[in-house]
Amino acid sequence: AEKYTLEDFTMGELTFSIIKPDAVANNKIGDILKMISDSGLKIKATKMIHMSKTQAEGFYAVHKERPFFGELVEFMISGPCVVSVLEGDNAIKRYRDLMGATNPADAVEGTIRKAFGAGIEANACHGSDGPDTAKVEVSYFFSNLELVN
Ligand code: UDP
Repeated sequence: AEKYTLEDFTMGELTFSIIKPDAVANNKIGDILKMISDSGLKIKATKMIHMSKTQAEGFYAVHKERPFFGELVEFMISGPCVVSVLEGDNAIKRYRDLMGATNPADAVEGTIRKAFGAGIEANACHGSDGPDTAKVEVSYFFSNLELVN
């Protein structure tokens, strides 16, 4: 039998998104998913999860030597998140642009972080920063079966 890979079912690029616990607690899931949809990115898969400490540490493993790592992990497990896979041409960069700067104080008007971010840590959203990270992050939270639709 033919062996298919995820790429065979993918139109354009995939990126991974988290609506972080601050934005979920502030009831902004709908607003943020609407901004994503209005930007033309397709929501290919989405679900609500509440990460364990081990899962959050694994997700942010690249930051484990950074001074903010411990606090960031505690923040990410402080409540549920909405994780999504977004699809579109140039989706990684388009979603980074839609999120805005890491620090909401530096984010421009019209971005998710400008609208809903409270500070450098509680900044409402996460988006993959490149093709390799996107692949790792998508498969950290989603099975291939959840992405074929
Ligand atoms: N972060 C933080 N303190 C900092 C820098 C970053 O708490 O000084 C958090 C923030 O939530 C950020 C995440 O760590 O979104 C990852 O940092 P990165 O530099 O990768 O920013 P991003 O790619 O999310 O814009």
